[in-house]
Amino acid sequence: MARRPLVAGNWKMNGRKSSVGELVKIIAGVRKLGEVDLMVCPPATLIMSFAAAARGSRVAIGGQDCFPLPAGAFTGDISAEMLKDAGAEAVIVGHSERRQYHGETDAAVRAKALAARRAGLVPIVCVGEIRADRDAGRACEVVGGELDGSLPETGAQVIVAYEPIWAIGTGMTPTAGDVGAMHEFIRESLTSRYGEAGQDVRILYGGSVKPDNAKELLTVANVDGALVGGASLNATDFLAIASVYS
Ligand code: PEP
Repeated sequence: MARRPLVAGNWKMNGRKSSVGELVKIIAGVRKLGEVDLMVCPPATLIMSFAAAARGSRVAIGGQDCFPLPAGAFTGDISAEMLKDAGAEAVIVGHSERRQYHGETDAAVRAKALAARRAGLVPIVCVGEIRADRDAGRACEVVGGELDGSLPETGAQVIVAYEPIWAIGTGMTPTAGDVGAMHEFIRESLTSRYGEAGQDVRILYGGSVKPDNAKELLTVANVDGALVGGASLNATDFLAIASVYS
């Protein structure tokens, strides 16, 4: 089964109204690319304007987090339904920065993934090990536990992002061999959970993907695209990463 690659940019807590200029460059650049989907996940303040700017283009807009409930007295939170209403098509859930700084458990991440689906968004569920776990040979055990706890039990409408925590924003990356082994492990876990439909789930790699390492990391078997942090803030770099699939 051919899975169309996806390169998604996580802008984190970066971007102002004026940043729409980068999005416009991405929209223009994607026309020259081949079979690849692009997504930009700006902060919630920009979703509505970015979705308007990207309408009709090959660039989808996503959120970075959502609350499990659709509405209510939860000051400062944003529901999946609100993201959908603002024009998002997907939402990242369980990013390691949310797990680390906001204490999000696997159960909370699963609730958010289910909320995303309820609202008609595709959840991008993030998993990944810390360096000590990789060094101790426990990377698959840790990632397997996160998949078991965070993924919806049924229905394969989901994207998984494998993001080794020690590779995020550090300039360090696993070897292509380690990425391949982990993505194969995740694929097996998805097919044992979802059956044949697990073959259709896209598994993104994330963690210090840059134009100069994109080809090596993103052409590995079972790597169906990338979740890009820092390099996604610059349209030229983001497009250069996506051009691996052209
Ligand atoms: C991320 O935070 O999802 C990420 C992959 O960041 P970076 O590309 O900057 O390592």
